[in-house]
Amino acid sequence: MSANNLHEADRHMVHQQADLDGHDKKGGMLIARGDGVRVWDTEGRDYIEAMAGLWCASLGFSEKRLAEAAYKQMLELPYYHTFFGKAHGPAALLSEKLTGLAPEGLNHVMFQCSGSEANDAAIKLIWYHNNMRGRPAKKKIIGRIRGYHGNTVATASLSGQPHMQADFDLPYGDRFLHVSNPNYYRFSIPGESERDFSARMAAELEALIEKEGADTIAAFFAEPVQGGGGAITPPEGYFELIQPILKKHDILFVTDEVICGFGRTGNMWGCDTYGLKPDILTCAKQLSASYQPISATLISDALYESLLEGSRKHGSFGHGFTYGAHPVACAVALETLAIYEERDILSHVRAVSPVFLKGLEALKSHALVGDARGVGLIAGVELMADKAKREPFPAAAKAGLAVQAACERNGLIVRAIGDRIAFTPPLIISAAEIADMLARFSRSLDEAAETLL
Ligand code: PLP
Repeated sequence: MSANNLHEADRHMVHQQADLDGHDKKGGMLIARGDGVRVWDTEGRDYIEAMAGLWCASLGFSEKRLAEAAYKQMLELPYYHTFFGKAHGPAALLSEKLTGLAPEGLNHVMFQCSGSEANDAAIKLIWYHNNMRGRPAKKKIIGRIRGYHGNTVATASLSGQPHMQADFDLPYGDRFLHVSNPNYYRFSIPGESERDFSARMAAELEALIEKEGADTIAAFFAEPVQGGGGAITPPEGYFELIQPILKKHDILFVTDEVICGFGRTGNMWGCDTYGLKPDILTCAKQLSASYQPISATLISDALYESLLEGSRKHGSFGHGFTYGAHPVACAVALETLAIYEERDILSHVRAVSPVFLKGLEALKSHALVGDARGVGLIAGVELMADKAKREPFPAAAKAGLAVQAACERNGLIVRAIGDRIAFTPPLIISAAEIADMLARFSRSLDEAAETLL
């Protein structure tokens, strides 16, 4: 089928997270194929995919072993469920494997198809747990402004993304609260050290808990590195100060590792990178290199005890999805984890990360770049109208989108989140490809600066 026909066919699709009006008028980009860290559009142009799709295609766009694992599983058992005490080999093996990889104490796992469902399930389990523990009032959940945990009614309510809430009648109910965004570069007071900024963030959290009453607060959700907020690494001391506050008030800590899990920060988990001890951990995306939709919610023994108790009380644990622990998705996830181990993906990320981070650091001398920081293979670049005065661009300038468009003209796919440009290339990216990616980015900044400054 010709590219024109495909664009015509595409008009029938309601695009997700998109400027629908602009798309209707101008059309969009249709991706036809991929190879390694590159993708090609239907017009034949190639791009370095510096976002690995949606922070997820860790093994790039042409890993044949994953296609073969899916095909083999489809021939053997293409579908079975995990309701009513039934299961299958891929789900059992993946459960054992994942709980073995998980931070200490997370010995039980539930599977879903998306990061949103993993977090939605976590919220349900938290409420269920507190009912079983005889604490029906302890139900509120705290997220962070610009945090992102998904798009279901509950997870969009928990997320701190105003455009995903406005006119959707969200946040839903009165159970979702938010604390400030920990972007040190943008929101610190002049002269404030990173540690002092973190202490201010922690004090805000504790003040909120005390105002609401700790007996009403069930959990705090955080991404180790905030992705959809703009690839924001936590300021020094942030989690160190926050974790004891949660402990003190008997509040569950949920780490959303949907982006950070499986090597993105240079360790298996963002928890390892930042010394986090969660009660629940959610993951997705790189679990299957995104070749199949699968997510996991890992929980502690204490949480699992509550599920057992509820199951005894009601005769069954009343939760589950038709496609949860889908055998093909589990088989692909198992193969993905085997590839990570065989190729020692963690060592690879640690080896190329300095090339990536130093290259971005060097771009701080560019007139448009106020800040650039990251960890492992995730980083955010903050664009500024006047960096000496720390003055951002007016929203109407759409500076981020201008840089993103210039990148696309230069064969580079990045993501503009407001005026932050996010990078999360496939974990397999080589040092030479990183150099190419940053050279394209630098050229794009120059081009965008001509109209923006
Ligand atoms: N949590 C985080 C940290 C994410 O970045 C995302 C998606 O980008 C989600 C949850 C939602 O995942 P999904 O789009 O698979 O529902």
